[in-house]
Amino acid sequence: MALKCSRCSQPGEAPPAHRVPFTPEAKAKVLGSICASCWKEWEQMEVKVINEYRLNFMDPQHRDMLQRSCLEFLQLDA
Ligand SMILES: [Zn+2]
Repeated sequence: MALKCSRCSQPGEAPPAHRVPFTPEAKAKVLGSICASCWKEWEQMEVKVINEYRLNFMDPQHRDMLQRSCLEFLQLDA
């Protein structure tokens, strides 16, 4: 699905839905406004965030924190 990315203002494709492991609401935001290349930037940042805070995907609080970091990074948290 083509879109105009709200972060880089470039036309692009949405990231693959299965790569966005968030709540339905946050996932819809990402898939509706973020291009695949900005998502790739986040995936690189995500590794750093996970390592820095030693996040564990099994922990709902950690997943929530990761999701918030992501929305902030992608400027979707307004
Ligand atoms: Zn973008």
